[in-house]
Amino acid sequence: MAITDKIYLKNHRQISSQLETNIPKGAFKGATLDILFQGEGLEKLDDATRERILDFATDFLDCDCDQNPYCGCPERKFMAYLLELRAQGLGPDAIVDVMSDDYMLYAYSGDVLSFLDSGIRTLEAAESLARVDGAPEKRAEISQQKGELTR
Ligand SMILES: [Zn+2]
Repeated sequence: MAITDKIYLKNHRQISSQLETNIPKGAFKGATLDILFQGEGLEKLDDATRERILDFATDFLDCDCDQNPYCGCPERKFMAYLLELRAQGLGPDAIVDVMSDDYMLYAYSGDVLSFLDSGIRTLEAAESLARVDGAPEKRAEISQQKGELTR
C-alpha cells in the first residue's frame, strides 16, 4: 500500500457529522476526495476545518488533468511534501505533527518511517544505475537528494 493510503482525516468523525454523511477515513479515498473537494457541503463545516480542507485542495488538487483528482498528481504531490519535510530535517513524528497542523491529517509515524526508508532505497538504486550508466551529473544530483533525506 502506498503511504497516501495511510493518510487519514484527523477529525473524520466531526467532518462526517457536520456534513451529515459518512465519509471514509482515508484522505485520498475517492469518496473523500469527491465529497470534500468536488461536492457541495463545504459550507456546513466549521471555519477551521474548512480552511484546512481548502488549503489541502489548493496544495494538492490544483492540477489541470482531465482525471483530476484521480490523475495521481495529488498522491505524488503529497509524497513530495513528505520528502520535503524530511529534507528540512524533520523525523517521522514531527512530520505527522506538521501534516496535522497544516491539513488536519494524520498518519502513523511507523508508516511515515517506512515510506522515507523506501524513498531512500529507491534513490540508492537510481544512484547505482547512474553510476553504471556513467552519468556523473545525474548521480551527483541523486546523491544530494539522498543526503537531504538521511541527514
Ligand atoms: Zn493531475
